[in-house]
Amino acid sequence: MPAVPSRRRVPSYGFLSAIKGNLEALTVGLKYFLNPNRSTLHYPREYIKLRPGYRGYIVLNKAKCIMCESCARICPAAAMKMVRFQAPDPKRPGKMKLYKYPVINYQRCIFCGLCVDVCPTEALRHVPAHDVVYMNLAEMELGLEAFQQEPRSPAEEEGGIPVRYIFDPEKGLVKVRVSEGGGEQ
Ligand code: SF4
Ligand code: SF4
Repeated sequence: MPAVPSRRRVPSYGFLSAIKGNLEALTVGLKYFLNPNRSTLHYPREYIKLRPGYRGYIVLNKAKCIMCESCARICPAAAMKMVRFQAPDPKRPGKMKLYKYPVINYQRCIFCGLCVDVCPTEALRHVPAHDVVYMNLAEMELGLEAFQQEPRSPAEEEGGIPVRYIFDPEKGLVKVRVSEGGGEQ
């Protein structure tokens, strides 16, 4: 049976009711604006200091890589692929050797961490960074050199203040500064 459109009129709340609603919204905004414990993050003057073990960007340690391809094979998003090239073989002077190393495309990566988990030599690792800036999509496809560099938060580079959110049973979420040693202040 086809759906019958409702003929009931949408109730009108009137001019005064609209003003009252707007004043209420402004009051709530003002309350949180004046509240010293408000949890808004003033990025990039402040940035969230991620904890070690955070599943953020991935970095390759080429010296540990045994070129097994497990990372590229397991990637469910086709974000990791192997690059192949010929270079002199240090063990056989005058001979060339085929090398293959993984590279990553952050346009596709879903940060599942499977590539890091499957790597048998810990050549891949997560770093606690997630607010990396790229100027265009092409920059998100890292080459072998870029994949070995540890990305840094632009806010950290600009001297932003590291903060964390902690839960206070009385106040709810509270933003605290993080000291050099990693503890909360
Ligand atoms: S984190 Fe997941 S999606 Fe990203 S490259 Fe590794 S396996 Fe692929
Ligand atoms: S799984 Fe690890 S050792 Fe194997 S190719 Fe990838 S980075 Fe290299």
